[in-house]
Amino acid sequence: MDKKVILTGLRANNDLHIGNYFGALMPIVDMAHNRADDYDINLFVPDLHSFTTPIDHKQLYAQTLHNLKLFVAAGLPLDHPNIHLYRQSFVPAHSELTWILDCFSGFGQLQRMTQFKDKSKDLDNSDNPEAAISVGLFNYPVLMAADILLYDASYIPVGDDQTQHIEFARDIAQRMNSKFSEIFIVPKSVTEQHEFFGHDQGLRIKDLVDPLKKMSKSAASSKGVVFLGDDPKDAAEKIMSATTDSVGTINFDSANQPGITNLLTLLALLRQEPQENINAEWVGKSRYGDLKKTLATAMEQFLEGFQTRLASVNEGLLLSKLESDEKLINAVANAKLLTVQKAVGLRQK
Ligand code: ATP
Ligand code: MG
Repeated sequence: MDKKVILTGLRANNDLHIGNYFGALMPIVDMAHNRADDYDINLFVPDLHSFTTPIDHKQLYAQTLHNLKLFVAAGLPLDHPNIHLYRQSFVPAHSELTWILDCFSGFGQLQRMTQFKDKSKDLDNSDNPEAAISVGLFNYPVLMAADILLYDASYIPVGDDQTQHIEFARDIAQRMNSKFSEIFIVPKSVTEQHEFFGHDQGLRIKDLVDPLKKMSKSAASSKGVVFLGDDPKDAAEKIMSATTDSVGTINFDSANQPGITNLLTLLALLRQEPQENINAEWVGKSRYGDLKKTLATAMEQFLEGFQTRLASVNEGLLLSKLESDEKLINAVANAKLLTVQKAVGLRQK
């Protein structure tokens, strides 16, 4: 790998939903198409990150492969030599580097991470591992720093919820570089990341039942969430029962009509048309049912097409790509790990 590295991953803790598709999966696939000639693209499934909050472990292995297939069905090319696909846990250096970085990470700094605070809010501090805040959740940013620093990655496209973790990775790289001479390439600053990728416009598809909340994989009820694996007819039903409002006129106004605005947003995304065109067609009309029917049909057709592409993903090809990429990636990661081990005195210089 001799080019600058772009690194990106998507957690496989459940089937992905339509928000993940338009907010993360498609941007990654588009980025891979646009950048792969000039950059090395490390696209990995962070399976070790999957259970920092409780999951169904019976599903994890299959879910990880499924997640990769979703990328392929969404258009990720499997035959580009600069796109490297791998599973985090298949590269043991991630875990080893995490331990080393742990010992150079401040407890106080990790305690201030907003994602940790958010995600631990709903968990308790008891000894029950099913309900408690795990050390893994606390440690999440250190594992993420290892994911990045092992490959000297420069660019990491993340949403606003993860920018603090990028700052943390930069911090620890700088700290270790000054203590042990240069061992890591420091990832680009958040500002430079935004310049490179264009600042994430913060697309947030809302839950269909509670449009004040964003659609989430881990939502308590799946009634408001359209999963990519949903039966297309059921997905259409979910759209038809989406919560709207009593205003009586269609407006694109997320503050006052979040439900209707969410439907208009989804319609623009599914039709791949500018929002203005969709709004020009619908704003001012009064029949919410017509909008729902149109969107329900578009969603049903989209899912039918996507699921057909998913079913035809060549699993053999995917597995052989994973096998050869994981071999390459292990070599790169182990070389970096050895540099670090030498620096901290675990191996002879
Ligand atoms: P969880 O409930 O487990 O946190 P999630 O649905 O919030 O799941 P994440 O794994 O946190 O999904 O995020 C994966 C990616 O999908 C991130 O890049 C995130 O910005 C994007 N994403 C998540 N939810 C939405 C949404 N509702 N609309 C658009 N993008 C989203
Ligand atoms: Mg989330």
